Amino acid sequence: MPYTVALTGGIGSGKSTIANAFAALGVPIIDADVIAREVVEPGSPALQQIAQRHGPGILTEQGALNRARLRELIFQSPEEKSWLNNLLHPLINARTRQLKALTTAPYVLWVVPLLVENSLQHQADRILVVDVDEETQLTRTIQRDGIDRQQAQNILSAQATRDARLAVADDIINNSGAPEEALPQVAALHQRYLALAAAQQD
Ligand code: ADP
Repeated sequence: MPYTVALTGGIGSGKSTIANAFAALGVPIIDADVIAREVVEPGSPALQQIAQRHGPGILTEQGALNRARLRELIFQSPEEKSWLNNLLHPLINARTRQLKALTTAPYVLWVVPLLVENSLQHQADRILVVDVDEETQLTRTIQRDGIDRQQAQNILSAQATRDARLAVADDIINNSGAPEEALPQVAALHQRYLALAAAQQD
């Protein structure tokens, strides 16, 4: 298995932007959000099981998962939430392991927005946190998603705190400056991760 660097950060902190910078250096990216969507894509066994349990109303007219309805449902019922987690977590873990195993690169960047919230720290060899202050998070999220300040604030409040993320960080990228200012940080970390990955192989 390749050495695994988890990349996390709050909404709007710049995870995608930083992941793109690593990708430009040839680092394979494994995106936890993409995998979470993949395991319930139309035609998947997991989506069939969800539809069996909750009825066709849990699907959109196109036969995809109605995420808003599912969120509502698990928000109201802890039992349904754990049923869903028990169904999806093993599938997500298996797919993640499979993608890692297919990698020939020395290390992979595993982008996990909810690393702290879902206590996934132990599944990484190293944790990299993209850090900006909350005001920057809010401004960038509002601008990117076209939502209002209150909506952005609600999303932020539902996530782990900045301090909770920094507490698990091995490395931190400060992304509060101009985008170019993050690039030397990425380049330096890339060298460090190549060295750590090589050391693990010895
Ligand atoms: P995340 O993936 O953590 O939600 P993004 O990478 O999408 O965050 O960044 C949030 C928004 O802020 C995007 O519109 C992105 O283009 C912008 N952004 C990212 N880094 C910077 C930066 N250093 N300066 C200005 N804008 C940035």
